[in-house]
Amino acid sequence: MTEHVYETEHFSQTWQRQLSGAFTKLDALCGYLGLTIDDLPSAHAANQNFALKVPLSFAASIEKGNPRDPLLRQVLPVADELGHFPGFNDDPVGDLAAVAEIGVLHKYQGRVLLINTGTCAINCRYCFRRNFPYAEIQLSKQKQQAALDYIAADSSISEVILSGGDPLLLNDVQLAELLKQLQQISHIKRIRIHSRLPIVLPARITDDLLAILGGSAKPVVMVVHCNHANEINRRVITAFSRLKRQGITTFNQAVLLKGVNDNADTLCELSERLFESCVIPYYLHLLDKVRGAGHFEVSTERALELNLAMQSRLPGYLVPKLVTERAGAASKQLVL
Ligand SMILES: *Cc1c(COP(=O)(O)O)cnc(C)c1O
Ligand code: SF4
Repeated sequence: MTEHVYETEHFSQTWQRQLSGAFTKLDALCGYLGLTIDDLPSAHAANQNFALKVPLSFAASIEKGNPRDPLLRQVLPVADELGHFPGFNDDPVGDLAAVAEIGVLHKYQGRVLLINTGTCAINCRYCFRRNFPYAEIQLSKQKQQAALDYIAADSSISEVILSGGDPLLLNDVQLAELLKQLQQISHIKRIRIHSRLPIVLPARITDDLLAILGGSAKPVVMVVHCNHANEINRRVITAFSRLKRQGITTFNQAVLLKGVNDNADTLCELSERLFESCVIPYYLHLLDKVRGAGHFEVSTERALELNLAMQSRLPGYLVPKLVTERAGAASKQLVL
């Protein structure tokens, strides 16, 4: 893939500049990709519900002129989002209200989710947070202290998972401060970061960030979120190898999405490409039933079929666990 001068210039900018230059307008993205949208009024209506946001680093991996591109499908507002799909609602995992209260989500033994920011660098159309008022999750300093106090008071918590939104959208000062505070809590053994930034904005993996993560006295584990091998461009590969050199174990979780990765070849290729880039497949999630994402649903039967196909073609360690989230369960549920 050859890059235009404009792209080369863009990718030499800081991650913050690249982020602020992300596509947020339908016509700008379509112009860049050489696409025309058939049903523009519906696309605009879908966009009103959940606004388009795509960094150029991700958009550059979309095939020009291909309306069925698997990366495009993850980010482009479409008429299907307005359709009614039974069982799909606004808060399918039912815990966002709880998060907003104290910034900690403690559902599983030994692990808590700590939510620091409500925003992401990209807006994924299938996301379970798509209908949630992001800004309300933004934690005040006071709430963050309350969250840290909660973690410090419970010695059964051995792992803190920074989630969001995207925790790597915190700036280096905020992140370093947060890690410092977590490291002072003696019962915490590991700090895990769930982020899509190494994929969609790899420029975020700066020397300074690596120094902060590598300087942590407790091991830092990274879980990225990549759904298709085409997302792993050379900038992403560089980000992964730098994380690896810093001693940070990186796993991937993907969501099984119709029209994106719902065939065995695509899923196997994703696992292979991840491994080549020093990332281990972790989870393959069934879609959360969020309103507006019904057109991404893959049936459980088909998911199991795909899982079996992967098992027959790949070494066991490259087959992600097929899981789903069930309200009230003690862990993610293996789909069997
Ligand atoms: C997914 C999740 C975790 C992490 O689960 P693992 O199986 O350890 O990856 C922890 N807490 C909450 C609330 C979660 O939703
Ligand atoms: S939380 Fe993850 S899936 Fe949802 S919009 Fe952000 S990056 Fe995309």
